[in-house]
Amino acid sequence: MQTVGHWINGQAAPPRQDARLGDVYNPATGKVVRRVELATADQVREAITVAAQTFPTWRETSLSKRTGIVFRFRELLNERKDELAAIITEEHGKVLSDALGEVSRGQEVVEFACGIPHLLKGGFTENASTGVDVHSVRQPLGVSAIIAPFNFPAMVPMWFFPVAIAAGNTVVLKPSEKDPSAANWMAELWREAGLPDGVFNVVHGDKEAVDTLLTDPQVASVSFVGSTPIAKYVYEQATAAGKRVQALGGAKNHMLVLPDADLDLAADAAVSAGYGAAGERCMAISAVVAVDSVADELVAKIAERAKGLRVGDGTRETDMGPLITGEHRDRVAGYVDAGEQAGAEVVLDGRDVEPDADGSGFFLNPTLLDQVKPDMTVYTDEIFGPVLSVVRVEGYEEGLALINANPYGNGTAIFTNDGGAARKFQNEVEVGMIGVNVPIPVPMSYYSFGGWKNSLFGDTHAHGMEGVHFFTRGKVVTTRWLDPSHAGLQLGFPTNA
Ligand code: NAD
Repeated sequence: MQTVGHWINGQAAPPRQDARLGDVYNPATGKVVRRVELATADQVREAITVAAQTFPTWRETSLSKRTGIVFRFRELLNERKDELAAIITEEHGKVLSDALGEVSRGQEVVEFACGIPHLLKGGFTENASTGVDVHSVRQPLGVSAIIAPFNFPAMVPMWFFPVAIAAGNTVVLKPSEKDPSAANWMAELWREAGLPDGVFNVVHGDKEAVDTLLTDPQVASVSFVGSTPIAKYVYEQATAAGKRVQALGGAKNHMLVLPDADLDLAADAAVSAGYGAAGERCMAISAVVAVDSVADELVAKIAERAKGLRVGDGTRETDMGPLITGEHRDRVAGYVDAGEQAGAEVVLDGRDVEPDADGSGFFLNPTLLDQVKPDMTVYTDEIFGPVLSVVRVEGYEEGLALINANPYGNGTAIFTNDGGAARKFQNEVEVGMIGVNVPIPVPMSYYSFGGWKNSLFGDTHAHGMEGVHFFTRGKVVTTRWLDPSHAGLQLGFPTNA
């Protein structure tokens, strides 16, 4: 059986006989399709050292050469995205069209990074003081560690590495050990695009690899995406080690439906955003907050649509694939059990499933729970599965208060035809990414992606100008070329004159 190994210094690292190995499943069949090497601290340090040694020459490589390579990467990715999508579907399970969508959203960040010369431009002020000019520059940081979750094995790394590399940093990527192959595929694509060896490295592994990245003194920055407890841990460890950190965590996204909303649009959105990728998206809708009279009709419309979804192997004519592991599938089903016991009404029961797939994959059907109360675990916890909970509230204010009381603040959406209500909501809601009649408001690459509260630790969001700032640091240079008018010693604090 094939083993996915590390990618260090522009080539696949030779396999180690004594390596710890993890199983990689095809979640649609439940079978192990390959194994992945789990790096020791020494192997991770080797990758970091290569990246650190490559940094001085890469940062000195001209902007036109750097962007030329990023541009070639974009062209190759665009030509061969089907290959990457097939890898994602095999190891993650999401349906092929969804995997292609993931690649396209990642590609948008690559396109954004092609504009890095413009984005890195500093300012220049002539004659700030008499005969004195001031200008600013932004310079790369060094080795950027990127630690990714299983649910977007291509897009999430691409939120970061195109900008990091274009800005002149070198990278060590640690993908999820559950779906590791997409990272190696992208590493080979970089080589084909002409990226010098050592700029982009991949190590596979678990806590041991992550801990090494968080503490090694040669790592300058850490970009992490994953569950909230690990994001918090990463943030604390890496900032204590003096690194710049952005750690994006979990989510519990609400969709507020006002009585004047178009309920067909809202039901379409709830189904697409609740069950797409089997609910394993950080921007998935998990709680539908039905205001006043809309609940009965909305629940009926969601149920009617969700019943028609085809569940099965993502390489077939299906709408929704499996969950990532059998353990996770059982955990999600456990939340449905707990919700039912606590008094939620099971409108659609996804525990009863006959998928269009061979073998015994990790499937659940779309599940719809009504009459969910805010103290039920199905509401309080991030479930990360195809489970939509309907919480009924009286009035906009109660809905808003519910959303703002939630410890997560990643994404939210309001469905209404009242522009004033939508404007009030976007002003008052304590969430980082907001949709108005749009259920998964993932910002375009030239804006920045990130949540509030327990959905992000650190100040800087991913990609867009915040991403450029994260991967660079500023310098301001004050210049005077001596001329006959220089004024001799001046021990007072410099002021403009
Ligand atoms: P996870 O936290 O289990 O794993 C994320 C990464 O951390 C992986 O690379 C994993 O190997 C590593 N890791 C796991 N346990 C660790 C430990 N004890 N110490 C150090 N490192 C560890 O997350 P996941 O299950 O892969 O991904 C799903 C989670 O990611 C969900 O909570 C989801 O909301 C979140 N997510 C958030 C965003 C966002 O933008 N906020 C985007 C995608 C996913």
